[in-house]
Amino acid sequence: MQHKGKIPFLDLIKQYHSIQTEIDQAVQNVLNEASFIKGRQVREFEEQFADYCGIGYCIGMGNGTDALVIALRALNIGRGDEVITVANTFIATVEAIATVGATPVLIDIDYETYTMNPESINDAITEKTAAIIPVHLYGMPCDIDKIMAIAKEKNLPVIFDAAQAHGAKYKGKAASIYGTITTFSFYPGKNLGAYGDGGALVTDNQELASKIRMLADHGRTEKYLHQYYGYNSRLDSLQAAILSVKLKYLEHWNNRRKEITTLYEKGLKHNKQVFTPSIPDYADPVWHLYVIQAEKRDELKEYLKNQGIATGIHYPVSIPFQPAAHDAIVKCDKTKLQSMCDHILSLPMCPEMTDKMVLYVVDCINNYYS
Ligand SMILES: *Cc1c(COP(=O)(O)O)cnc(C)c1O
Repeated sequence: MQHKGKIPFLDLIKQYHSIQTEIDQAVQNVLNEASFIKGRQVREFEEQFADYCGIGYCIGMGNGTDALVIALRALNIGRGDEVITVANTFIATVEAIATVGATPVLIDIDYETYTMNPESINDAITEKTAAIIPVHLYGMPCDIDKIMAIAKEKNLPVIFDAAQAHGAKYKGKAASIYGTITTFSFYPGKNLGAYGDGGALVTDNQELASKIRMLADHGRTEKYLHQYYGYNSRLDSLQAAILSVKLKYLEHWNNRRKEITTLYEKGLKHNKQVFTPSIPDYADPVWHLYVIQAEKRDELKEYLKNQGIATGIHYPVSIPFQPAAHDAIVKCDKTKLQSMCDHILSLPMCPEMTDKMVLYVVDCINNYYS
């Protein structure tokens, strides 16, 4: 099979062109009103996104990392505390814990779903444990009920990092309704991406929501009255206006991602050199990334590159092997983790991919091994 032109990992230009008129109008409206910070567009988007998440409160943030930091601060977590999270995630999850002065405790993932293994939580809990941060990695919701049962028993707050999982469902309900707080990133490449940095945090707890809003805005209660030393981390009106337009298309885009994974799965399931992701009964994932495990991964990646296909590795160096994480408490099986990191490969994944493009990727992978 032939394919003219390159297959990008994602295509934000094509996506922009598909909604250009609406985006341009939304941006123009903000420029006309010149209310760039705390404009009406921010409140409107927060309400829309809270509705979409099936939850009471949404607070816009400067980015997804700040959302995690502010979530921890709002729960009074800091020096002397330990926070349990996973060893396989983007650095920001762990960085946020260290930023507030707490110690990250890195536990195992389940190697079928790439998310926190609930069986590993109890062993990591000590008197200092102050919270759990599971990650809905690659768009796959964690095994939420099992995690929440442990958290409830130990009376620990749970912050779900949903930076890669806008719209993911757990047992038929929005994954974002569970836990104490759920955080999101609107980094451009995420399933719901802004045209710059952005993030948000959702919760059903009103008291927590107002504290979070204060913390994100210099800890202020009134214009020049400050309850806490907080942060300058607000979603701005331009990003909010863009996100409101894009939110209308999110379900459609997530569905297209699902169709793409079905094609990948069908085309690769007979290939014995490749493991495709499995979907647990409880999960309705949103496929931020489609991660396979492949024999001779590096050679395959290079071969695909030569065929014009861009791929990624998420993540080549897991957290326990990061110099920055030298004083994290590592509770996971590092050998197993390293072996996974040596085999994972993220295939091109964006709603703008045509069936033809997906099938070309499938053919190239199968050709490589034959
Ligand atoms: C992208 C991401 C973040 C951080 O989001 P930013 O908006 O880039 O700060 C946090 N956690 C995970 C799992 C992510 O993928």
